[in-house]
Amino acid sequence: MDLSNKVVVIMGASSGIGAATSRLLAQDGAKLALAARRVDRLDQIKDEFPNADILTVKADVTKFAEVQAVIDQTIAHFGRIDVLYNNAGIMPTAPLVEGRRDEWHSMLQINIMGVLNGIAATLPYMAKRQQGHIITTDSVAGHVGAPDGAVYAGTKFAVRAIMDGLRKEQAQNNIKTTIVSPGSTGTELFNSINDEAQKKFAQDFWENAHGLEPEQVASAVEFAIGTKENMSVSEMIIRPTLQS
Ligand code: NDP
Repeated sequence: MDLSNKVVVIMGASSGIGAATSRLLAQDGAKLALAARRVDRLDQIKDEFPNADILTVKADVTKFAEVQAVIDQTIAHFGRIDVLYNNAGIMPTAPLVEGRRDEWHSMLQINIMGVLNGIAATLPYMAKRQQGHIITTDSVAGHVGAPDGAVYAGTKFAVRAIMDGLRKEQAQNNIKTTIVSPGSTGTELFNSINDEAQKKFAQDFWENAHGLEPEQVASAVEFAIGTKENMSVSEMIIRPTLQS
């Protein structure tokens, strides 16, 4: 796909779905601003594409000033932003009865406030320009509650509601919104699970379901970005075929 006319910011680009999307969009010729805390991983991706125009910025999505800096640096470097992809997330699942309040707090901060920080930093610019596209990685867990994953699902339900509200609020400003809801995908996300039984469950689930590769989710993001101006892909649910 030729995306050489797109400037895309990817929050959470250092591994998994974000890294796979970065590589696919770089192949498509998109101009990229890649952000995450592990900037060495971002620089590795940049080094793989010496002919691409890629900006890498260290940023923690829970810190609004750092997110704003990513957006400001992107506009300074490329002259504009066409797409913001909010992809950063963690999934430390555990039974509610264990009361892991620190993990709940981290999930709320990264999975919800991280998305809102991206929107807050970008939307005024896009609304003024009357053009733009905001994409967020949600989850199948944003559609159905699950035992031991209640708080993670709660963050993804919240993000889906926020993105749907954003769509309705900003359609008249010609802003596209896309919710990408993957099922089980083989990434480093499972490393964010501290409960050993839950980590094993997630890994076994992915293997038994013949789970997705991050490149497969990236192809959905690429499709949404590549649509014509008058077409907005509001939501995509992408499951492994064996995942009910
Ligand atoms: P990874 O763990 O491989 O990637 C997570 C990304 O989020 C990394 O780039 C990480 O970067 C970034 N991130 C985490 N915390 C922060 C932070 N505070 N500030 C900035 N970046 C942060 O997992 P996935 O690729 O699987 O996850 C991507 C998204 O996909 C998440 O939102 C996840 O919830 C969602 N998802 C994943 C599924 C799966 O089965 N894998 C299924 C459904 C949804 P760094 O650590 O360098 O900051």
